[in-house]
Amino acid sequence: MAAMPTGRMMAFPLTLTHLWERARTYFPKQEIVSRLPDRSVHRQTYADFATRTAKLAAALHRLGVRPGDRVATLCWNHRQHLEAYYAVPMMGAVVHTLNLRLHPTELAFIARDAEDTVVIVDRSLWKLFESFGPQVPSIRAVIVVPDSGPAPDGTHDYEALLAAEEGTYAWPALDENEAAMLCYTSGTTGNPKGVLYSHRSTVLHALSSCLVDSLGIRESDTCLPVVPMFHASAWGVPFAAVLAGAKLVMPGPHLDAVSLLDLMHQERVTLAAGVPTIWLGILAALDAEPKRWDLASVRSMVIGGAAAPASMIEGFATRHGLEVTHAWGMTETNPLGTVARVKHTLRDAGPAAHLEARASQGCAVPFVETRHVDDDGRVLPWDGSTYGELEVRGPWVAQSYYGGVGADRFTADGWFKTGDVVTLDAEGYVRITDRSKDVLKSGGEWISSVALENALMSHPAVLEAAVFGGRHAKWDERPIAAVVFKEGRTASDDELRAHLVSRFAKFWLPDAFVVVTQIPRTSTGKFLKSKLRETYGGMLEGREG
Ligand code: ADP
Repeated sequence: MAAMPTGRMMAFPLTLTHLWERARTYFPKQEIVSRLPDRSVHRQTYADFATRTAKLAAALHRLGVRPGDRVATLCWNHRQHLEAYYAVPMMGAVVHTLNLRLHPTELAFIARDAEDTVVIVDRSLWKLFESFGPQVPSIRAVIVVPDSGPAPDGTHDYEALLAAEEGTYAWPALDENEAAMLCYTSGTTGNPKGVLYSHRSTVLHALSSCLVDSLGIRESDTCLPVVPMFHASAWGVPFAAVLAGAKLVMPGPHLDAVSLLDLMHQERVTLAAGVPTIWLGILAALDAEPKRWDLASVRSMVIGGAAAPASMIEGFATRHGLEVTHAWGMTETNPLGTVARVKHTLRDAGPAAHLEARASQGCAVPFVETRHVDDDGRVLPWDGSTYGELEVRGPWVAQSYYGGVGADRFTADGWFKTGDVVTLDAEGYVRITDRSKDVLKSGGEWISSVALENALMSHPAVLEAAVFGGRHAKWDERPIAAVVFKEGRTASDDELRAHLVSRFAKFWLPDAFVVVTQIPRTSTGKFLKSKLRETYGGMLEGREG
């Protein structure tokens, strides 16, 4: 056998320390802008960020934080949260983002499960912290970001802690496979489960977000992560932006459409990312006052976390000249897995086909692989019509959950079962029909609630729509649509049905419509269909036909 050739490339570790070092060296003047609870805007540079991150690490070390310890954050998106995103992993500990929209009981469960030792909490969220913190015995110290007043007795003031430190820290050499971050799934199916992001997975994910056919994050960008930093690391934007040296704009607690549009206008934002419910609100605000904001700087609005309706993508493009980038991901995938771009092969296919491709969940980004399987785990054909559960694998896909729970979500041959029911077409485009927990089966036949919702949201009077299964004596389940009308608009059930009739088989049409003032939301701003099923799921009982 021939000898292996000698000579190797360096085993250079893929760690967040390199991102920090790069930002400090190459982009010291770049800005990080944060909006505070009182609506004022705070500005600092990456040079400030670099110094403050080192000071935070020194302060945490003084408080006893050691490699592997979990340091939790209960914060809005702002500069101190960004500092924790880097200081904690770079000192070898694990930053654990707590979702401030969860119930105190869930927060207590999660913080106990993670065994958090130190918590960094916004003063404006102090009441929430008080409602669960005392139930978490592992918490040794609490650091309060004084965003709206002084730190309460018995806690440390974030700014005072930093002021007492030097501004240098001897960052340890880390193994790239060490944990950097701990994120929990929302727990809509059972208890929330932790996912440990490694330095390597986070760095590779950030690099991938800088590819032009992915999000294409670059130095000239001004990135606005509307998606909270407690939701799957704000989709990695705080990592990709620092890697690229882009300007960052942090919205703090002001997530209403007008505040966000003001910020996009004032800070000349180029890329903003958030869930569809945020963008539905923004589109409605823009439609109401199309001339109020100058959004010429915006090159991409990244929408993910739930399906972006085609009508919304089209509405932004045709009425406001704004481009939506639709993407799919999960907490378990760090989170970006697929991005919807119009491939070269569709170049001449016409605007309807382009819109269809952009409204799909898109194709896997490099290093993420997709397949879909039937109930027996058989791999299905990529024919655009066969439904199955989506499975993914790749360097930023979880191999197991924190603590080894949920082992049934991982296949013996190394894939992660997403719980999303999809089709895959010959070009590799993924189209989500439903999450398996929301799947609607009527008389044994699949009905795609996502497709019905998207069609309903293209009706000019409809602001939001969610379709769910109502219990039915004859058919097991029949679709019911909950709709929210735009201000000053309305439509009858017959009009809504007429809007759907040409697009779907008759048995897909909802048996009933309920008008609501808002579709209930999950803690990450998605439509909460289980709540609708709970409230309205019985309304068809007793119906025969
Ligand atoms: P949760 O929704 O449970 O809080 P995640 O944010 O991890 O937690 O949600 C991941 C799920 O969100 C996916 O499995 C999928 O069902 C849904 N999802 C994410 N992006 C999209 C998208 N672009 N279109 C449709 N569904 C999406």
